[in-house]
Amino acid sequence: MRIVLLGPPGAGKGTQAGWIRDRYRIPQLSTGDMLRAAVANGTEVGRQAKAIMEAGKLVSDDVINAIVAERIDQPDCAGGFILDGFPRTTQQAAALEQMLAERGLALDVALEFKVDPAALVERISGRFSCASCGTGYHDQFRRPKVDGVCDVCGGTEFVRRKDDQPETVQARLEAYEAQTAPLLPYFRERGLLRTVDGMAPIEEVTAAVAAVLEAVVKDDGAANA
Ligand code: AMP
Repeated sequence: MRIVLLGPPGAGKGTQAGWIRDRYRIPQLSTGDMLRAAVANGTEVGRQAKAIMEAGKLVSDDVINAIVAERIDQPDCAGGFILDGFPRTTQQAAALEQMLAERGLALDVALEFKVDPAALVERISGRFSCASCGTGYHDQFRRPKVDGVCDVCGGTEFVRRKDDQPETVQARLEAYEAQTAPLLPYFRERGLLRTVDGMAPIEEVTAAVAAVLEAVVKDDGAANA
């Protein structure tokens, strides 16, 4: 199954991507995570992307498209993948369509997390994650079971993203509205868009995601029968 997750920063894409990854055993390809790794490793891409990311703007389509094209050719993507944070512009969406067509593949679903923009700054500024395994938490909505200890790996160090500060969040939300929101009609026209309520509690969002994906799996099965 090949899935695109859509929605503004803070909509819950990363949280639900983790669940989908575990449920369907397909990798989560987060372009944001890939870029943060490139910055941390001081690669050429990382050097180019750092200031752009810190300003809350989008990295160039060509750079991102090349990263994704290389990543989907890795063996772990053979059974499908979850794109989290890509595409973010209509140019990237067209590049994705072409990339997949060249490989004889197609997207199964574009899943939108619909959220109230007013809630996003609060959601984003409370985020933090485990420095060892990357599990995501939130000051208010998703604290570790034991304060200061990661539920998953027992790690005791946590990090906050630099671009999750309120000044940068506003720029990221503007970039979403101007450059990424036009992807909703783009995928709707192709019959691929499904929408879930991203404002519901995490477990309810997961249940809605599961229902959408089960329907996709069923349709695929029927089409291949
Ligand atoms: P994210 O973790 O998805 O919120 O991404 C963090 C930052 O990485 C974004 O604010 C952009 O600067 C950059 N980025 C991630 N994915 C893309 C993309 N598909 N196109 C352009 N820039 C991206």
